[in-house]
Amino acid sequence: MKLATYRFRLKDSSGRNRLRKLGFAVNDIWNYSNETTAYQWSFRRQLLSAFDLHKLTAGVGKELGLHSQTVQAVVDEYAKCGKQFKRSKLHWRSRKRSLGWVPFKAVGVKVEADTVTYGGHTFRFWNTRPLPGKVRCGSFCEDAQGRWYVHFVCEDPTPERVPTGKEAGIDLGLKTLATLSDGVELSRENLTRKFEVKLASAQRARKKKQVTRIHAKIKNKRKDWNHKATTRLTNEYDVLVVGNVSPSKLKKTKMAKSVSDAGWADFKTMLAYKAIRLGVVYKEVNESFSTVTCAACSERSGPRGLRALGVRTWRCSSCGTCHDRDRNAAVNILRSARDIVRRREFPCLYAGEDVKACK
Ligand SMILES: [Zn+2]
Repeated sequence: MKLATYRFRLKDSSGRNRLRKLGFAVNDIWNYSNETTAYQWSFRRQLLSAFDLHKLTAGVGKELGLHSQTVQAVVDEYAKCGKQFKRSKLHWRSRKRSLGWVPFKAVGVKVEADTVTYGGHTFRFWNTRPLPGKVRCGSFCEDAQGRWYVHFVCEDPTPERVPTGKEAGIDLGLKTLATLSDGVELSRENLTRKFEVKLASAQRARKKKQVTRIHAKIKNKRKDWNHKATTRLTNEYDVLVVGNVSPSKLKKTKMAKSVSDAGWADFKTMLAYKAIRLGVVYKEVNESFSTVTCAACSERSGPRGLRALGVRTWRCSSCGTCHDRDRNAAVNILRSARDIVRRREFPCLYAGEDVKACK
C-alpha cells in the first residue's frame, strides 16, 4: 500500500498557544536526546539507538502533556537523523528559532470531519478534501508566519488512469518553464521579478513580518503552478522524460535570479512522485548536447555556449531544417531515453561493457 501525506491548515482560533506549548515540550525531548547521545559519545564512541532512548524517556510524556507515542516519534526521528548524518550531536531545537513540530501516531489522534483530537483537545482545520484512507501517522507543524498545519500520512489507493499512448520529452528552461517535444509550452510569470519592488521596499523599511509574508506568497504561487502543471502532464502522457538540467552552473551567471525562480528541482520531484502514483513512466536522462544537436540529422550544428542562450530559433547548417531551440532539445531528450531502452533490448549492437557481457 502506498502512502500519501495530506496537509490541512489549522484554524487560527483553534488552540495555537496550546500547540506552541506542546512544541516546546517536543523541543525538550529532542534536546535531552541530543545531550545524552553526545555525552555517551564522549566516552564510549557509540550513538544511542532509538531503543535506548525509548527506555530513557519512558513515562516523560505524562509530565509534559504529550502522548507517549509522540515521545516515541520524536526519539525515533532523532535517532534516524543521527544515523543518517552520522553525527553524535544534532542541531539544538530552540524556542525562538525552531518552527513548532509535534509528531503523532494513529493511536494518539482521532480524526473526524474537520476536527482532530489530540491529548484531550480538539483542533479544527479547514477540510479542503477528503482523506483517501486510514491515517497511519502525522504531525502538527508551524510555518515561518506562525500558522499551524496538520499533516496526515494516509494509506493511498492507486487512482485509476486511462492510458493515452502519448510520450513527451521535456526541456526545462527559463523563458518557457517547460517545453514539450510535441510543441506544448508551459510557462508562468517570473515571480521573483513580480514581487521584487515590494520585497525591496519592505526590506528597506525593516518590516520583518511583511517580508516573510511576501516570501510565503511567492513560494505558494510557485507551488500552486507546479502542482497544476505536473498534474496536467501526468494525466496527459504515459511516458515523461526530463533532462538532468543543473542550475549550479547557471547560478553564477546573470540569469541566477531566473534560475532560482524557475525551481526546477521542485518541479521534477513533484513530477516523479505523481508519475509513480499513477503508473506513468518517468525518466531523467543526461541532456548534454540536446540543445546543439539537430533533431532531424543528428549533426551538432546548434548554437553553443552561454552566450548563445538568447538564440531562440536556428537553422541547421548541414540539413537546413529550422528549429525552435527548446522544442528541438525536448525532442532530443525524448530520443535519448528511447535509445537507452533500445540499448537494453539489443545489447550487442552497442560497443562497451554490454558487448563483453554478450560473449
Ligand atoms: Zn540538421
